[in-house]
Amino acid sequence: MNIGVLGGGQLGRMLALAGYPLGHEFVFLDPAPEALCGLGSHLVARPDDDAALAELASRVDLVTYEFENVPAAAARTLAERVPVYPSPVALEVSQDRLHEKTRFQTLGIPTAPFAPVHSRETLAAAVEAVGMPAVLKTRRLGYDGKGQRVVQEAAEVASAWEALGGAPCLLEGFVRFARELSCLAVRGRDGACAVYPLVENRHQAGILRRSIAPAPAVPADLQREATSFANRLLEHLEYVGVLALELFEVGGRLLANELAPRVHNSGHWTIEGAETSQFENHVRAITGAPLGSPAPLGLSGMVNLIGGWPDPVRILDTPGAHLHLYGKAPRPGRKVGHVTVRCDDPAARDRSVAALERLIAECSPGGARTEARAT
Ligand code: AMP
Repeated sequence: MNIGVLGGGQLGRMLALAGYPLGHEFVFLDPAPEALCGLGSHLVARPDDDAALAELASRVDLVTYEFENVPAAAARTLAERVPVYPSPVALEVSQDRLHEKTRFQTLGIPTAPFAPVHSRETLAAAVEAVGMPAVLKTRRLGYDGKGQRVVQEAAEVASAWEALGGAPCLLEGFVRFARELSCLAVRGRDGACAVYPLVENRHQAGILRRSIAPAPAVPADLQREATSFANRLLEHLEYVGVLALELFEVGGRLLANELAPRVHNSGHWTIEGAETSQFENHVRAITGAPLGSPAPLGLSGMVNLIGGWPDPVRILDTPGAHLHLYGKAPRPGRKVGHVTVRCDDPAARDRSVAALERLIAECSPGGARTEARAT
């Protein structure tokens, strides 16, 4: 099939790398001429360019997207001409933190307390409802920790809101989580679902740094709870494709933080660490093929390369390491690659992850290639 992809970043690249062996071709729509480094056909245009959308629709059998800030109107325009998976509804829900959290509530998926902020009056009411400390987040266009401020006291909320440009926001209770987890799940066009084991994630400055999969020390009931949340979302949204649900673990229970309607950074380990990678399963799902098993193969650790990368030979010298460079120029704060280590025992996995983190630290600030903008 010919698959159209809105966005041409590393997620699109890895989708194509998974989709070619299954016999598919890809056409990407991305305004950056250097996107994808020549992989697939590339329409150099913005996603709100109607002529480019029409051309894309005429060249493909279906369309998917690899970043969630695709204008929902573009997805809707395309959906009048070709199937779009996941549906524009999933995109709309995930683009607005208020809709997203309200939808979680409706489905019985617990979240931190939250309240909308769009005026001085709602600001005061939100502080009252949510309490302190809290996190003020813009409802739209936030990612990798951007568009949010942690507030310790009620007196700071007004200035935090001004600092966010007075945009419509959500005030959320600050969660003192034991750890961050994510749940990747996939639903096919026939309604079949598959859920990957929970992943443990560590962020720094709002950007994912490291994932461990399957997450250690996950009791069966916690995994069951996550699986049930993911299945509820997949079914409710009549979702087709891979979805990632970001979660906080607190006191042995889960709170949902956000939903990504796409393949996700915390699922990169599945390329080597699962029977079927998230990228292959997304392609299988959207093309109507049977889903592959999400079962893990041994133990994995994934470390992001942000802003630059150490000598590839040294990376590959780390036991169990698999290197993925995205073909992007090094730039501060930019995700330029990742390394997955796959091992059979936790001690070996942890040694390799620690060795990689040391290697990466050696080449960060002061090193040859470093980082400002996350993409
Ligand atoms: P988000 O953009 O919502 O994914 O937030 C980025 C990161 O900020 C999360 O991965 C957490 O590390 C942190 N964070 C977000 N919301 C909260 C919260 N309500 N309480 C504590 N930390 C949070």
